[in-house]
Amino acid sequence: MLLGSIEAGGTKFICAVGDEDYRVIKRTQFPTSDPKKTLDKACKFFLQFKDLKALSIASFGPIQIQKNNPKYGFITNTPKLKWQNTDFVGPFSKKLKIPIYFTTDVNASAYGEYVASQLYNEKINSLVYYTVGTGVGGGAVIHGKILQGIGHPEMGHTFLKRHPDDKDFPGICPYHHDCLEGLVSGPTFDKRLGIPGPKVPKDHPVWDIIAYYLAQAVIQQTMIIRPDNVVFGGGVINRNLLLKIQKEFSKLLNSYIKVPDLEKYITMPRIKDNGSATLGNFALAYRVQTE
Ligand code: ZN
Repeated sequence: MLLGSIEAGGTKFICAVGDEDYRVIKRTQFPTSDPKKTLDKACKFFLQFKDLKALSIASFGPIQIQKNNPKYGFITNTPKLKWQNTDFVGPFSKKLKIPIYFTTDVNASAYGEYVASQLYNEKINSLVYYTVGTGVGGGAVIHGKILQGIGHPEMGHTFLKRHPDDKDFPGICPYHHDCLEGLVSGPTFDKRLGIPGPKVPKDHPVWDIIAYYLAQAVIQQTMIIRPDNVVFGGGVINRNLLLKIQKEFSKLLNSYIKVPDLEKYITMPRIKDNGSATLGNFALAYRVQTE
């Protein structure tokens, strides 16, 4: 049996086909251009596989996930104007005629990390996954289920206490200015310092500011969800920053409640090379074809 995965990001699409053991058999990637061209290309890739039993699509958002909504399967009011109001699931169900699961990129990554934790026999039941890159997003899995209510979570747009040395920076979120994404996403480095993120030296004080905000994000998850593990992926995250987040978190928590050992609690992804979403998609595709 073959399972399909689409990870749709703002800059690139990654399509993969895997087997029941979630091993990648074939993979391709191409830039995200206009919707019709990009979706046609993805569809063509999957049409090569006669045994494809199900597909899971993990998309940038916001997306409509409520099945009884007429816009189910659509990308809704994204800042990527060409993609606003795009039917994503429709073309695939028409052409491939297989069950399709539709979720956000971070939900699929969270699910992939959860599935990996079970494969590695870690004793965990719940997990939060953040990506910190061009934007910030987060997803959670609790007792094997993806957390969502009337829509998917928007964990990148929570509000924070400002760092005392960062009070002059207005933030870059077009909706809230200084929400989490507005304060820590990749483009904030250039906006704050005039230096692009990858060129900022390891010992620059801005890392303490970023860590302070991301530690608050962990505090919020800890207090609301009490997860076993908070995972940070995405281009902004590095080992050095992770250690700073753990330290800041410990200070902010102030021993109020017991959490797992910090090196197991606040981690980088188990699955290397940004593979969390693909694995998550395979597992979700497997699930949707049995339902
Ligand atoms: Zn925001």
